[in-house]
Amino acid sequence: MLDQNDIRTLLTLQGSEREELFAQARAARTDMYGDRVVVRAVIEVTNLCRVDCDFCPMRRSNTSTNDVFHQTPAEMIETAIGVRTLGVDVICLQGGEVPQTTKSVGAALPTICDLYDGRVELLLNLGNKTRAEYASLREQGATSYIIKHETSDADLYLRLRHEALTQRLACITDLLDLGYRVGSGMIIGLPGQSLDSIAHDILLCRDMGVHMMSAAPFVPAPDTPLAGAPAGDVDLTLNVLAAMRLAQPAWTIPSVSAMRARVEGGQRRGFDAGANVIVFNATPADFRNKYLIYGKNRKVSDYDYAMDVIADAGLTPGGSVFLTETRQP
Ligand code: SF4
Repeated sequence: MLDQNDIRTLLTLQGSEREELFAQARAARTDMYGDRVVVRAVIEVTNLCRVDCDFCPMRRSNTSTNDVFHQTPAEMIETAIGVRTLGVDVICLQGGEVPQTTKSVGAALPTICDLYDGRVELLLNLGNKTRAEYASLREQGATSYIIKHETSDADLYLRLRHEALTQRLACITDLLDLGYRVGSGMIIGLPGQSLDSIAHDILLCRDMGVHMMSAAPFVPAPDTPLAGAPAGDVDLTLNVLAAMRLAQPAWTIPSVSAMRARVEGGQRRGFDAGANVIVFNATPADFRNKYLIYGKNRKVSDYDYAMDVIADAGLTPGGSVFLTETRQP
């Protein structure tokens, strides 16, 4: 089993040793999942957020200048109908961290579940909530939850998110206790982050027993305190993806759109390093254009783009790995 030193070493590999690392990561992925890539549709439900992360244009301090939206349950359901016609069985409902989403998303979940006769992974990404709220969303049909810890360096976390890491980790524990399939993840290249801290991120999540992991290169966004900070390194992020695959081969690991934001072709390279998930954006354009996660000029990956990336990587689109009888598109 890989330890902290092993992982730290993997993060520094270059040249032929790095290519060997990627080959091992691809082999581990194939052993677990064959050539199937999980295809997820994301619906962005609100750009309102009560948190003030220094790296995010949707931070609370920008609320007064952002064009805020909060989709109604009916609007979420209408988009889900379109996703259903594509044969995609993972729907991620994602938004800023506000308590109102417990009600709005919760109201949409049972109908979306019915659209699929229950054969759907309803994945939420709505931030910290109380255990009672998580329990309520689970009862309404949610199956999985992404709650990235971003960095396991408690001082750095506090400095950039202005909240305590322990609160975030307590949410992960609650979600696991309640039977969710849980995803965490980190940002690579945050100012002040060390390689040891990244290695610790991976071990922390392995020890907590999460089911999904992600790593995204830091993208300095306009209108944030970190707008002038250097961007995260894509090559290091690829090493992180491969190290995650070897640390816990069963993790579902996306090649995220931030890879594409940093370098053209970056998302394809994530699959070469062992990723097995792609996310496409199903949010109606009116809302999507207000969801400023990397600023106004973010590149949005649609379904056709996701299919092209999968084909380019020599892989095949697939469905949720968390449903007992997965229907493949
Ligand atoms: S990263 Fe998430 S929690 Fe932080 S400000 Fe942005 S939307 Fe809110």
